[in-house]
Amino acid sequence: MHLKVIVLDSQENLPRKIVPIVPAADAVKPEDEVQMVSLYAATQKIYPRSVQGIFAKWRWFMVVLTQLVFYGLPWIEWGQRQAVLFDLGARRFYIFGFVLYPQDFIYLTAILVIAAFSLFLFTAVAGRLWCGYACPQTVYSEIFMWVERKIEGDRSARMKLDGGDMSLEKLFKKWYKHIVWLAISMWTGFTFVGYFTPIKELGMEFFLGNMGSWEIFWVFFYAFATYGNAGFMREQVCKYMCPYARFKGAMFVKDTLIMTYDAERGEPRRARSKKADPTALGLGSCVDCTLCVQVCPTGIDIRKGLQYECIGCGACADVCDTVMDKVGYPRGLVKYSTENAMQNHWTQEQTWRHVFRPRVILYIAILTVVIAALLISLGMRKPFKVDVVRDRASLARIVAGGKIENVYRLQIMNAAEKTMQYQLGVQGLKGAELATDSRVQVNATESLWVSVRVQMPYESAQPGSHPIEFQIRALDELGQSVSELTEKSVFLVPR
Ligand code: SF4
Ligand code: SF4
Repeated sequence: MHLKVIVLDSQENLPRKIVPIVPAADAVKPEDEVQMVSLYAATQKIYPRSVQGIFAKWRWFMVVLTQLVFYGLPWIEWGQRQAVLFDLGARRFYIFGFVLYPQDFIYLTAILVIAAFSLFLFTAVAGRLWCGYACPQTVYSEIFMWVERKIEGDRSARMKLDGGDMSLEKLFKKWYKHIVWLAISMWTGFTFVGYFTPIKELGMEFFLGNMGSWEIFWVFFYAFATYGNAGFMREQVCKYMCPYARFKGAMFVKDTLIMTYDAERGEPRRARSKKADPTALGLGSCVDCTLCVQVCPTGIDIRKGLQYECIGCGACADVCDTVMDKVGYPRGLVKYSTENAMQNHWTQEQTWRHVFRPRVILYIAILTVVIAALLISLGMRKPFKVDVVRDRASLARIVAGGKIENVYRLQIMNAAEKTMQYQLGVQGLKGAELATDSRVQVNATESLWVSVRVQMPYESAQPGSHPIEFQIRALDELGQSVSELTEKSVFLVPR
């Protein structure tokens, strides 16, 4: 007995080859022809059709908003400097009025916690909301596809152009498109580096050809990544490279809003005339126009149910609503809904009530607490920092005048954008006093190491380790204290 296996095309589900195979029990006879079958299917290029609708508007709103922020922020001035600058060389982060040091790492931790919980919250509420509207991969793919549509035309024109022979028109359009893509990519790479090097200086260096090797590397690397990911890889980044696509399923529950096709209403699907009565014909609302598949940036058919490739962009819902309007059926055959809402035929109000379940409320509560803590902490932040390090090279010693002396190194970090005077003092141990200059000047946004000697009369304390505190006051132009810090340390008394 000989069997046949049908190898299906992974994209279209159409038979590609019919291959005879030999059952294991049968020995392969010399006259049998054994054919090797490759199960590898080359990726089919996706030509998404343009779409209009409420979700497309939201996506473009996010594209414009995120890109205004990304491209615009490095050009904003704050006093004499760039408003947002991550100066890695000087180990300073400038964010509008704040100057952050590596010691302010806690703020970065808080920002990462906020980002993580925001992602958990959005995913728990509406699945891949981030992917569909704000992820850089989606945003740049949208911009690149817009350029492609403007130059090569919509889906059918692009398919015809790619399928046709090389011509002057094709060559021109392809070159034109790639030049515009490369220009956007280079500008994106330049802007990215402009967050780490003052962007105006970088611009001058760029035009004079004086850019440093690291700057050249990062501008071109980021530009190349943008060009490759948004121009060529597109949906493959979402499907095969993005780790979020893999673990987001763990955060989905039956009350998560996802893109859904109402199969109960849509099936059986078939094309029909506009005047035909679907009930009389025993048909559902889906007219099988396949437009929902044609607009999908990942090339999937939402009518087959939720698939991990779906980025929740809403393009299929937009186009299906347009079709429903044309044929005169109610909208919402494809829509954001939850599995439970579809099964139980919930109203919108019931659906939203279930969306805001305890887990979502917990995420909102945690986010609120972390954001409030971050804002309060930033609001109460002192305009300077001090680190005290005991000088291990010189332990406690007896000095002239019969005094015991300990030496410390104080790092004073001035986070203000003007030169500051600081008054140093010591407290917490009777008789202890500074034996070095108590006034220190630190330039704007700089830090200074100061060697400080503390002395106390011999035998005024028991041998051993005694806690002391350094008191540091920031002074204004009139010598008045404007801010104060205390830092703990110990004073050693030898036997
Ligand atoms: S766009 Fe709507 S009507 Fe057309 S095939 Fe898709 S689900 Fe059916
Ligand atoms: S199935 Fe719909 S929502 Fe999902 S990626 Fe495709 S077009 Fe976007």
